[in-house]
Amino acid sequence: VTTIEMKAPTETVDPTAARVADHQRSDGRIDAVLAVVRARGGRMTAPRRAILEVLLAGGGHEHLTAEDLVAGVRRLLPRVAESTVYRTLTALEDLGVINHVHLGHGPSTYHLTSRTHRHLVCEHCDQVVEIPAAEFAGLASSLSNTYGFALSDEHFALVGTCGACRVR
Ligand SMILES: [Zn+2]
Ligand SMILES: [Zn+2]
Ligand SMILES: [Zn+2]
Repeated sequence: VTTIEMKAPTETVDPTAARVADHQRSDGRIDAVLAVVRARGGRMTAPRRAILEVLLAGGGHEHLTAEDLVAGVRRLLPRVAESTVYRTLTALEDLGVINHVHLGHGPSTYHLTSRTHRHLVCEHCDQVVEIPAAEFAGLASSLSNTYGFALSDEHFALVGTCGACRVR
């Protein structure tokens, strides 16, 4: 799945530079995530660390399915059982350090919860566009005020047609 990251139009951050910086920081970020796991009473096991390393590789900008994560973890821990990876994903999700998002009809993909963004998916080219979570603030407060409904905007992507496909 290809991903592009969209900043709000008023921001002038170069996404390429941001990715390089993310990548260079990834060692420190693993320790930060591990510290959160420990603070919440979680044990640090080799599969947990491996999953976090795979999610942080490349700056954490990929959307990895459980199957992708099994393959990635096995590059670090060749003998790990698939069921162990699945159990570990659930445990890390329960600890609140990772979550999953449904980008479309396929399997869900995993993220570090520290990477707050939301998703738009193009139905024509399958491109994933990452947008700031703040884009949903107006809708979330309107749904809450009008219907008493708490929106989980991080759980699913919005689906539509990207700018490039619209002009094709
Ligand atoms: Zn994402
Ligand atoms: Zn498209
Ligand atoms: Zn789900």
